[in-house]
Amino acid sequence: MPNFTVDQIREIMGKTDQIRNMSVIAHVDHGKSTLTDSLIAKAGIIAGDKAGDVRATDTRADEKERGITIKSTGVSLYFETDIADQKEVKPYLINLIDSPGHVDFSTEVTAALRVTDGALVVVDYVEGVCVQTETVLRQALGEKIKPVLFINKVDRGILELQVDGETMYQNFQRVIENANVIISTYECDDMGESQQVDPTNGSVAFGSALFGWAFTLTRFARVYSEKFKLDILKLMQKLWGDNYFSPAKKAFVTDDMDGTTQLPRCFVQFIMKPVITLCRNVMDGNYDIVWKMTESLGIQLKHDEKQLTGKLLMKCIYQKWINAAEALLEMIVMKLP
Ligand code: GDP
Repeated sequence: MPNFTVDQIREIMGKTDQIRNMSVIAHVDHGKSTLTDSLIAKAGIIAGDKAGDVRATDTRADEKERGITIKSTGVSLYFETDIADQKEVKPYLINLIDSPGHVDFSTEVTAALRVTDGALVVVDYVEGVCVQTETVLRQALGEKIKPVLFINKVDRGILELQVDGETMYQNFQRVIENANVIISTYECDDMGESQQVDPTNGSVAFGSALFGWAFTLTRFARVYSEKFKLDILKLMQKLWGDNYFSPAKKAFVTDDMDGTTQLPRCFVQFIMKPVITLCRNVMDGNYDIVWKMTESLGIQLKHDEKQLTGKLLMKCIYQKWINAAEALLEMIVMKLP
């Protein structure tokens, strides 16, 4: 069942400030098709529990066979949110063009880019920025398209590589730096403001397209804003970089040594730690801890959802907690022209 009507779409088609024309660009296999499916699931075309498995944009037989995307496909997404001005819930129409990531098909990429104003750049957390990331990013900037970044496959860092929050932060930092080096090399001077991506202004998201979860600093700053009595934009600055929270001083500090104890940076303490801990406890089957955490995070699970185990349970919990489509569509609406 679609969760929008033709009339709703027709109405916003006249309001250009509520329309985003964008494409998803990535190195092959970094998860573009999987991600596109999550976004489409949110707009109501595919059922939510199938998100990530369907490959809705791979419509041709040869694409399904080879497991890659060859032709560009266009999909319209309908999304209602209040984030742009924090007051009023407005509908947005997001026209999403999924273009191929393979080098052989770069004319298709250029054609897709011509009709868009923004691009969601998907980079694999494990592989980092690759050759084709640079090629498509260069093409996008050449067409004066504004980029936002999504670091995908973070689940692999947690489950396969078993890295800690600090290592993850360092990896994120490296991916962002590499992307920004490319952006500063190819951005046009006449684009006005700098096109650099920056977690502290909400133009970088982290997550797992496969399991349908993602977050930006905006997402967590909104949650913690009340607790720290700090406005969202100020708190986002604290949630990245060399910022720490001293329990003794009950204040944010920039020195990681609190007496003799070393503090974790805020990003690790307030974001990565809950994300990693919940994920590992679900996978290890420590349900007492899991139900405690879901309750304190305000995640409501139905009786039959509580019967799920392993990756299915992880997917279910994380989609309710930090839904990928919500975070990414919000970022697209807020950050892309
Ligand atoms: P594309 O070539 O960029 O469209 O990439 P796909 O969406 O086809 O993904 C390539 C492979 O990576 C597939 O096997 C996906 O299942 C896998 N994949 C995509 N996103 C994730 C993710 O978030 N986590 C993990 N572990 N695998 C993913």
